[in-house]
Formats: sequence, C-alpha cells, structure tokens
Amino acid sequence: MNIQKIEQILKDQKQPKFRLGQIKKAVYQDGISSFSEISTIPKELRSVLEKEKILSFEVEKVLVSKDGNSAKALVKLSDGNKIETVLISPKVDIWSVCISCQVGCPMSCAFCATGQAGFKRNLTAEEIVDQVLFWKQYLKNDSARPLSCREYATSSPKGRGGILNNVVYMGMGEPFLNWEEVLESLKILSDPKGMAFGSRSISISTVGIPGGIEKLTEDFPQVNLAVSLHFSQDEKRDEFMPANKNLSLEKLKIELEKYFQISNRKVFLEYILFSKINDSEKDAKNLLKYINSFKKSQLLHVNLIRYNSTDSKDKFISSSAEQTVKFRNYLLENKINCTIRRSLGADIEGACGQLAGKK
Ligand code: SF4
Repeated sequence: MNIQKIEQILKDQKQPKFRLGQIKKAVYQDGISSFSEISTIPKELRSVLEKEKILSFEVEKVLVSKDGNSAKALVKLSDGNKIETVLISPKVDIWSVCISCQVGCPMSCAFCATGQAGFKRNLTAEEIVDQVLFWKQYLKNDSARPLSCREYATSSPKGRGGILNNVVYMGMGEPFLNWEEVLESLKILSDPKGMAFGSRSISISTVGIPGGIEKLTEDFPQVNLAVSLHFSQDEKRDEFMPANKNLSLEKLKIELEKYFQISNRKVFLEYILFSKINDSEKDAKNLLKYINSFKKSQLLHVNLIRYNSTDSKDKFISSSAEQTVKFRNYLLENKINCTIRRSLGADIEGACGQLAGKK
C-alpha cells in the first residue's frame, strides 16, 4: 500500500488525521482486498479510495504444492519485472511468508536459481511489504467456504485462514544490499499500528555483507539473523559463492563475534548439503572447526537443508537422507546445535534456492 498517496488523498479530502489509522488497521491487520471493504470510514471517502489499488503489483499465478502446505506466487511488478514469494505452513494453521527484496540477486551463488538469473533492481519497501499483504489477503479470501477434513488437509491455502506468524527475508536477493528499503519494510511489518509482527517473528538471511550485520544490530536488534554459510572453507565458498572472495569466512566471523558481543542472540547457519561437494565427514569436521573457533560457539545453530534441484541437468545433487543424518549426528555428537530443516514446496520450486521469477 502506498501510504504517501493515501495520506495525500486524505489531505485533499480534508479528512481528520485518525482516518489513516483506520485505513492502516483495515489493510495491514484485517487483510481487506479493496478499500471499498472498509466499513469504518465514510461512504464518500470509500468511493474515492475505491479507485486505488492496495497492492503495487499484479499476481500472475499461484502454484500450490500437492500437500496444500505451501504456495508460490509469481508477481509482476509495475515495470514488468517479475519476482516470486512463497507461503509455507510449518504447522497446522500457522503460516510463514518468504519474501524477496531484489529482482534477481547480484551475489551469483552457483547453486541458486535466483543468483543464476542475474540482478535487475532493488525492490521498494512497498513492494516488499505488499508480498506479505498479498498472502494475508490470500489466506483470508473465501474463508466462509466450509471444508471437509480430507479437503482441508490437501486444499489450497486460499481462504484457509490460520495465523500468519513469521516473515523471512529468504526469497530473491541479499537484504543488506538493499538495506534502506528493507529497513523501511521492517518498520511497517513490526509497527503495532502496521502489520504488527513481533520483531522476533521476523528473520533476515544474508551471505555476510560487511557492515550489514552491524546495521541490523543497530536498527532492529530483535530480528532473527540467519547466515547462508553452506561452505566452511574459503576455497570452496569462493568457488560456489563468488561474493565470498571479498568477504572471507574470517571477516564473517569478526562480524558475528561483534553481533554476539552486543546482542548475545542465537544465529542460524544455513548449510545446504550437496552430494560430494560439502557433505563428507571432512566437511563436517571443517564446519565443526569453524564453529568452535568462535568465542560463543554455543550461540550458533546449524540448519541443514537438503538441496532442491531446479533442473534435471543440474550439476548439484542433493545429499542422500542417510548422509544428511550422518552429517547432523557428527555435529550433535560434538555438541553443536543442529537441525535438519524440513524443506517445503519443492514440487512447486518454492523451496530454498529455487526462486527465479520464471513462469
Ligand atoms: S543464495 Fe541468496 S545470496 Fe546467493 S544468489 Fe541466491 S538469493 Fe543471492
């Protein structure tokens, strides 16, 4: 929603200041899909606002996974660029939204569909927040339709209701390369009069852009931090994540040590397991060594993710379930906090590393 535009309309219509609060509540918290649905404002104002759209983009397509627990939307922005955003249900009636912050991504990670698609532009705060708004409306729409238990278990999330609980900046793009707009979007998402998410229900994932973690600590210390690590040795990280050449694991460690000193909060290390690339016992030992080199290693939590292939000719192959468990057990035996993250939405290419803005 374009707040500045709405403010201007309210000014032109000589409306009292509290009208903006009523509109924000209806849009951000009640999830209305059209200004004409706002019953708390005068009819004349409603008919003026009716000409405006709430979302800044059009949703071209929504794909729903077979189990009905995730959906991916292909979004067409006003300039014709396309992005993707994903809705996931980690638990019954609880939903998480995965949002994009850039069209494409300049980081060019070799295993990531977004990185391979190249970088086009940054998203505005409005375009970022609108992805969450869209899913809120989507979950609400059609909710009057009663569903049988069987239908419910496999139905589209549309109209299923439930609680939109978490927002993760893990879609297309690197948040710290678009910090000003991401920061504005965080303000709207966490504002009690905006979308009212608790800061601890929001997570930001980064490859470790220098200075980025520091900005998050200053501006939003309660937002969760995740690092796309994937490799624990510079040679391998340089090879598959070219951005690492200017970053290095040592520099990343310095940034994280500073973060621990100030916030004392847990950091999630995302580690996608690729067969024969980073899933051997030697790789697990290297990861252990890297984690143990931190003064507060107990604050690091490893999330292991099995790779989701985007192409049959893909040179990256997912680690087997057996190898994944072996890798996790090695870390657990060595007292490292570690979980295998359940990957949702693989059949709609909505899982980690699969977003590319294609039809
Ligand atoms: S993994 Fe993240 S940082 Fe790397 S290219 Fe993909 S979106 Fe960008």
